[in-house]
Amino acid sequence: MEMAVTELKKNKALLCLECGKCTAVCPISAYDREFSPRRMLAEGIFYGGGDLISDKRLWSCLTCLLCSERCPVDVRYSEYMKGVREIAQKQGNWGEPSHGSALLHIMEMMTAPKLNQNRTGWINGNIKTAEKSDVLFFTGCLPYYEDFFAKDFDFHPISIAVDTVRILNHLKIKPAVLPNERCCGHDLYWLGKIDEFNKLRELNLKEFERSEAKTIVTACAECAYTLKELYVKKLGLNSIEVKHISELVAENIDRFKFKDQNLKITYQDPCRLGRHLNIYDSPRDAMKAVPGMDLNEMPHNKRGSICCGTTNWMNCGASSSRIQKARLTEAKNTGADTLVTACPKCQIHFRCSQCGKGKDKEKTDIKLKDFTNIIASAIDG
Ligand code: SF4
Ligand code: SF4
Ligand code: SF4
Repeated sequence: MEMAVTELKKNKALLCLECGKCTAVCPISAYDREFSPRRMLAEGIFYGGGDLISDKRLWSCLTCLLCSERCPVDVRYSEYMKGVREIAQKQGNWGEPSHGSALLHIMEMMTAPKLNQNRTGWINGNIKTAEKSDVLFFTGCLPYYEDFFAKDFDFHPISIAVDTVRILNHLKIKPAVLPNERCCGHDLYWLGKIDEFNKLRELNLKEFERSEAKTIVTACAECAYTLKELYVKKLGLNSIEVKHISELVAENIDRFKFKDQNLKITYQDPCRLGRHLNIYDSPRDAMKAVPGMDLNEMPHNKRGSICCGTTNWMNCGASSSRIQKARLTEAKNTGADTLVTACPKCQIHFRCSQCGKGKDKEKTDIKLKDFTNIIASAIDG
């Protein structure tokens, strides 16, 4: 209980005014009356946070930062959730993992120092990579998602990796790709499994050092957040720069020649790229540079964007499904043909939602594409 109080203090929770703005905007609260960040904070302040440790609601928060956007006193609710989860899981409390915990087990498996993976089987003859390079492409969990989701969702997550390398090759970059790279640790960090996160970070940093890369590029919003904030910034690693592929494309936009696409799109800001990293303009500017690309914003966009409904492969339930359906409907109502996102997980969750039957099927029927697929297929030559 004392530790939970420390988390309250550390994350400015004792400043809470009980105004309820957090609960008013929270996407989980919108569909689950039992989930209220305001009430959970009040319970923490009055009772020391002890009950929250064994409460299943602890694992439902998306750590999406939307509540922090509205909070007048800057309570760090997502960090508070992460801190209490760290205490909770050490005491044997846990949420309800989706997919029988398989994806969480894969991440934990990657903490084994002697693990020998070969993650480069997807590299085909049409793209160029190198053993050592100034630029490293961090593939993240894309090879695992390909094996796990490609069959069910009629979607090839690995196409995001292939198209990222195509984009880099267009910029005359032959990136290094690591055969034994580990998961960045994003989910384990936000689930409070800090020891496991630290192991992954240490193993990855050794691999980065061996590669001699100075710039790390990723196509995943969560990897971008984790590598930028929890590796480079937290450890003060001045010799490495991390970029999400959308930043690199936007910075080099004059070096691209695009074919006309005649496409109406809308854009889902992934929480980690948007509110966590403040990267809103790069993907938009890059896509708007493609002739014939008509970007229609959803009413909830940029700082006010709504999460894809589930995170960390945890507590994916009825609220997640309703958030996804509402978001897909919002996307479709813009008149766009395609919803573009810059995080593979957003697309996986949205596609999962589209698999269901029922009256919402038509309302949520919109094509889904990753930012990299949009840019790579527009490149002329
Ligand atoms: S971080 Fe997101 S899901 Fe969690 S309480 Fe805040 S608004 Fe709700
Ligand atoms: S918005 Fe901030 S001050 Fe208001 S209830 Fe939520 S945490 Fe407290
Ligand atoms: S929405 Fe995502 S986490 Fe939930 S069941 Fe579907 S793929 Fe799994």
